[in-house]
Amino acid sequence: MALHIYNTLTREKELFTPITPGHVGMYVCGPTVYNDVHLGNCRTFISFDIIYRYLMYLGYKVRYVRNITDAGHLEGDRDEGDDKFSKMAKLQQVEPMEIVQKYTLGFRRVMQLLNNLPPSIEPTATGHISEQIEMTKQLLANGYAYEVNGTIYFDVEKYSKEENYGILTNRKLEDLLEGTRELGGQDEKHGRLDFALWIKAKPEHLMQWPSPWGMGFPGWHIECSAMSNKYLGKQFDIHGGGMDLAATHHTNEIAQSKGCYHVSPANYWMHTNMLTVNGARMSKSLGNGFLPDELFTGNHPLLEKAYAPMTVRFFMLQTHYRSTLDFSNEALQGSEKGLRRLWEAFETLNKFAPVNEQASEAELDAKVKKLVEGFDESMNDDFNTAKVLANMFELVPIINSIKDGLIAANALASSTVTLLQNKFKAYLEDIFGLTNSATGNNEVLGDVVQLLIDIRKEAKSKKDFATSDKIRNQLAAMGIALKDEKDGNASWSL
Ligand code: AMP
Ligand code: ZN
Repeated sequence: MALHIYNTLTREKELFTPITPGHVGMYVCGPTVYNDVHLGNCRTFISFDIIYRYLMYLGYKVRYVRNITDAGHLEGDRDEGDDKFSKMAKLQQVEPMEIVQKYTLGFRRVMQLLNNLPPSIEPTATGHISEQIEMTKQLLANGYAYEVNGTIYFDVEKYSKEENYGILTNRKLEDLLEGTRELGGQDEKHGRLDFALWIKAKPEHLMQWPSPWGMGFPGWHIECSAMSNKYLGKQFDIHGGGMDLAATHHTNEIAQSKGCYHVSPANYWMHTNMLTVNGARMSKSLGNGFLPDELFTGNHPLLEKAYAPMTVRFFMLQTHYRSTLDFSNEALQGSEKGLRRLWEAFETLNKFAPVNEQASEAELDAKVKKLVEGFDESMNDDFNTAKVLANMFELVPIINSIKDGLIAANALASSTVTLLQNKFKAYLEDIFGLTNSATGNNEVLGDVVQLLIDIRKEAKSKKDFATSDKIRNQLAAMGIALKDEKDGNASWSL
């Protein structure tokens, strides 16, 4: 089976046919860098990293664009509330661009720890103000936008007369209206679903730019339309993001692009499901957000221990990206054990020397081949990483039994052994992006880390916190997590 992708736009799994054969253009909405990314955000970015890696494994040349939202995102998705960056800048008494710099660097560090590949292009909203102004001008010229006192709004009612505004989530205008509040006398908007393309800045607003309509800043939705158009063209293959973005942000992106260029921007709309905590979506505003660093260090009252970045990544892969995934200590501990079993089997497998051309156990040989061939089939079925891992875990006891002599060494044909070795390597390392830092000289590593723990303990007893923090942070950057114990000692995990 060739690659099939579930398309939110059609609510069907469709055969993937790129616009230009051999090439894929993919745009994913990136983080709003006004605070630390939480683990839920990471789930979405890990999912698209796997998709990116798998497309490359299939031989496509992929241009993967993931933006950084560093301006224009107000607290409410419908142009209500303060600007997120200005609010945080005031709170921390720094410039908004210091907020942007701090959290962009933090985001990139976390992405690297989780072994997400950097995208091909990572454009910022502030770097593309003129493109956003141009698009806004075009929407005004096409009659889909209007100006009120220096602010430009997209006219959803006008657009809906010609196009289906709720096409992405298959909802009628009346249903979409239900979720919005009535307009009051103070409101500038003509319609409840109208949204800002450009917002007039109050004199005290910290981030503002000149425009044909006076000083202001762009709305949140227009940045993704302007940047995807600039780097991928008016029409491209895949547009992705978390499911929570479909109803407003992506719906508005489609309206902007159609209003401007008369074509739907992306052919396949992909949405990742939410990481939840006790069934509720993980989010900063609900106060149930776990930070990646809290996991890597174990410094969170609800965590029983520290978890290595690769454990966290593996935990995400065990569930299909379109299903919800609930976060818990038990699940993470299960992932830690599961990943260890997989690496052990991988190391065992790599020691097998394929010898015999013919399998002595034809039935077992056929079963193994089928399970391995299932890897690509599962990924071609809308990137089902969970199914690939289920097959891998069926193969683990077979590999271990060969090692223990319970299954004869010549049971499998040499071609099957080679296939098994090659596919395990390609999947674990290249497609799933897992790194096995636990391999190699484990005992020496243990001794070295223990030495560092002892030095850190000494430093702490002398109140030399700079040294103790340096040891902990630099080990964390290498994927080694320290968890402080009550007696001043620390345990560690990879
Ligand atoms: P933001 O920085 O809030 O714009 O979010 C960045 C990305 O993370 C978006 O694609 C969101 O849809 C996604 N996201 C936010 N919360 C979660 C969650 N709990 N689980 C999975 N993805 C999420
Ligand atoms: Zn976006």
